[in-house]
Amino acid sequence: MTSKKTESINSELTCLQAFRNAVDEAGIVAITDVRGRILEVNDNFCEISGYSRDELLGANHRILRSDHHPMEFFKEMYRKIANGKTWRGDICNRTKNGDLYWVDTTIVPLLNQLGKVGGYLTLRIDISEQKDLVERLQQLAHHDPLTGLPNRVAILESIQKVIDLRSGKHFALLFMDIDRFKLINDSLGHDVGDKLLQEFATRLRKSVRATDLIQAARLGGDEFVVLLENISDPHDATLVAERLMKTLAQPYELGGYTIYSKASVGIVTSEHLSETASEMLSNADMAMYEAKAAKMDRPIVFDRVLRDKAQKRLYIENELRDVIARNELKLFYQPIVELESGAVKGVEALIRWFHTESGLINPDEFIPVAEEMGMIIPIGNFVIDEACRQLGAWRKSLGENAPANLHVNVSRKQLEHPTLVTIVKQAIQKHQIPPDCLHLEVTESIIMHDRKTSIETLNQLKKLGVHIDVDDFGTGYSSLSCLGDFPIDVLKLDREFIKKSDRSREVMLIHALIILAEKLGLEVIAEGIETPEQLALLRKLGCGYGQGFFFSKPLSAEDVALSILNANWNTPHLTIV
Ligand code: C2E
Ligand code: MG
Ligand code: MG
Repeated sequence: MTSKKTESINSELTCLQAFRNAVDEAGIVAITDVRGRILEVNDNFCEISGYSRDELLGANHRILRSDHHPMEFFKEMYRKIANGKTWRGDICNRTKNGDLYWVDTTIVPLLNQLGKVGGYLTLRIDISEQKDLVERLQQLAHHDPLTGLPNRVAILESIQKVIDLRSGKHFALLFMDIDRFKLINDSLGHDVGDKLLQEFATRLRKSVRATDLIQAARLGGDEFVVLLENISDPHDATLVAERLMKTLAQPYELGGYTIYSKASVGIVTSEHLSETASEMLSNADMAMYEAKAAKMDRPIVFDRVLRDKAQKRLYIENELRDVIARNELKLFYQPIVELESGAVKGVEALIRWFHTESGLINPDEFIPVAEEMGMIIPIGNFVIDEACRQLGAWRKSLGENAPANLHVNVSRKQLEHPTLVTIVKQAIQKHQIPPDCLHLEVTESIIMHDRKTSIETLNQLKKLGVHIDVDDFGTGYSSLSCLGDFPIDVLKLDREFIKKSDRSREVMLIHALIILAEKLGLEVIAEGIETPEQLALLRKLGCGYGQGFFFSKPLSAEDVALSILNANWNTPHLTIV
């Protein structure tokens, strides 16, 4: 009993001391009874709350409440202090005239002589400025400064909340990317580019303002995303996307220009729910990518087919990393034939990936992935070296029967890489092949991408003595007038032309291209010849060379040597395999 009493006195003394100290340090101090009735306040308290001392004394502490905190917050606080424990936390209070202010609050229970809680001492420190600062920082961290829209961080948080809620209601993400934005930015300047992004954001904001259940954000660059919550049917997302696309496609009047711009839109709905927001976003991105490639002016919804494609892509990406060390890449060779004589003029090296578990993976499946992840450089270097090594070996073993020309495909990243010329030079020297045997095949979209650099690199390659072919001609930009600017030797007509060569329009086009090439001093190789009719037509139109399954599918290096040794090399259409 004695010891409890001493404790109580000590505690009261400590509290009084605390009170004095606090007052001295100009804190905001009050004493209340157990029911919260105010018994004492200091001047700071009156000043910050806007009430006079007379108004406060006898009033209940609740007059400061702001409705910012839920009831549970105060219940928890009272539970603690009623048990004689000190409570500390941030509270949002309301002044007499209704303004809100934040205070770091410590509530110390005052024990009476019986050791029971007889009242409370509250010490508050004004932290409104800090709270403002934190809020402003949060605003900055969650908003895109250019457009004022929420940014990637903010929208990812919102998406994650919707995922975690698992309310059973449908939601959707629309991923949008402005078509040809880079072109607009590069040609009209960054100011116009910025204005376009701002106007795009304004239109988005206006279109989605109707309800709280739609949020638009800018992810960065020309990528935007819209989150649709609580939709009754996932199909509604497509309708919203179509409406948005219409609004966004209206012409933009910016800096004296009228700009026509559209957005490609990919959609993912809660029917394909992922665990994480970023996974959902990347699925929507993938659908957008498909929409852009399809050039159909309509949104594409992420579905099972796309998911399988995404998984396969991820698998390829992982497996590609050490593909060279695993020794799984092989080159096959497809004959290129002189159409008039039927003699083989050369071979095109075509890469094959023999995966130990998945079997054969075709270049169309892995070359674009290798391009994106940068693996195309080591893979491309391997191809150049291996193809040259093979030609060197054939020349040694077959002598003058060896293929006269070797065509090797080069991708855009390779052409842009500063080491390409050195790599080609080294391969030629190391394997002792005459440089003019080597043809490097580049597509027209590759050389048109960065014309100036392409012309420089192609000129350096030409100086080594190698030839340059334009592959898949007719599928890219088809800027016929530019052909003369590039140091090229051969046009390879894309197999789509040959496939449709039963139509008179295509025939006219093929004919015109052959005449144009002749005028420019270029040779022509027709790709994808599959039938005797196609061969006859191309011969008639004066096409010099051809390649295709009619003559031969791509063969392993061993089969090429066998064909040559069996002497059916000069009638290669018999070697269809
Ligand atoms: P490409 O350079 O245009 O190669 C011709 C493609 O057409 C080859 O496909 C060939 O097998 C196919 N082809 C040939 N004749 C016919 C035909 O009569 N009918 C049909 N339907 N197809 C025919 P492949 O080997 O699957 O290669 C596809 C593409 O992958 C190549 O197109 C090329 O762009 C790329 N590629 C292949 N190997 C390499 C490489 O080593 N490096 C790079 N960067 N790309 C490569
Ligand atoms: Mg090619
Ligand atoms: Mg081709």
